[in-house]
Amino acid sequence: MEIEFLVPLFFVFLTGLCFGSFLNVVVLRAFSNESISYPASKCPKCQKPLYWWHNIPVLSYIMLRGKCYFCKSPISIQYPIVEFVTAVLFSLAYLKFGFGIHLIYLWAVIFMALVLAVADIKEKVIFTRHVYVLAGIGLFYNFLYTMLNIKEPAITWLNNPFVNSIEGLLLGAVVMLVYFLIAGLLAGGKMAMGDGDIYIAGALGACLGFEKTAYMLIFAFLLQILITLIAYEYSLFKAKDFKIFASVILFIIIGIGHCFLNNAGIFAQNTVIFILYTIILMLVALYILKDTFARVWNLKDKNPDAVLENFVCIPFGPALVAAAITVLFYLQEISVISQNFINSYLNFIGW
Ligand SMILES: [Zn+2]
Repeated sequence: MEIEFLVPLFFVFLTGLCFGSFLNVVVLRAFSNESISYPASKCPKCQKPLYWWHNIPVLSYIMLRGKCYFCKSPISIQYPIVEFVTAVLFSLAYLKFGFGIHLIYLWAVIFMALVLAVADIKEKVIFTRHVYVLAGIGLFYNFLYTMLNIKEPAITWLNNPFVNSIEGLLLGAVVMLVYFLIAGLLAGGKMAMGDGDIYIAGALGACLGFEKTAYMLIFAFLLQILITLIAYEYSLFKAKDFKIFASVILFIIIGIGHCFLNNAGIFAQNTVIFILYTIILMLVALYILKDTFARVWNLKDKNPDAVLENFVCIPFGPALVAAAITVLFYLQEISVISQNFINSYLNFIGW
């Protein structure tokens, strides 16, 4: 790497850290309903105002060893993590798209999307003013670039015709609304998920435009399935149900192995291996499903609300935000990989 390249990257990373620190303040003060510019930062426990060197992103947390300087009460690990993630995403945005007005736009989108995700993870709450700001940024940027009609390739990927931006907003909101209604029906009329996800998907859709929003929704659902599986594993672990715990891990390993064997052309050479492999995969899947249903029925008899708590109440907002950022950065690369992957299966079945 060249020095001319590393110096700006270093400053971009620092900028990201500072904005990450500000992001923590925005989320914290949204919950406590305080202004974001006043009063000065203070310890939430002992209310003592912090010294300037308590406010250095990530470093202060390490120097203070995760404890308040005055009262020694623990500081949430959320703060340095949010600062670091913001800095990494700001840097990736710069590396991918370079300097320009569009980088400020992209940073604003990342910033507001992270505000929504952090609030959702922390308290399962979405603040509508945050959603409106994000949607406003997306609509305004796309409106501006449609008016100016700029055709630079790196920027073209980020902006969308204004009408397309509105279509993205509608697609995100409508798909999540339908999902919200279906989940509500399945949960017997109870609120299975917050309606905040409808707003988040709409606002992200305004930034991404119609096509990229479609990909965002697909990625978000896949990611949510993965997160749910991991949460299920965790609940099995806590219940000391190691038989099913092991079989879920076995299923994931066999599944990944399936992809590798297919890509290496092993299945194409020997169909018997493919059939045996697929039968084993299905048996493990059936075993997991059988036990999962037994557990859900059992829980439902004891306490209907516990089913909701354990299986459906994982916030969807963070998955939407992660999917949107992935689509903005890496959709082109991912579509090449997945195309190769799908082609190898199509070849195998002789398409
Ligand atoms: Zn304190």
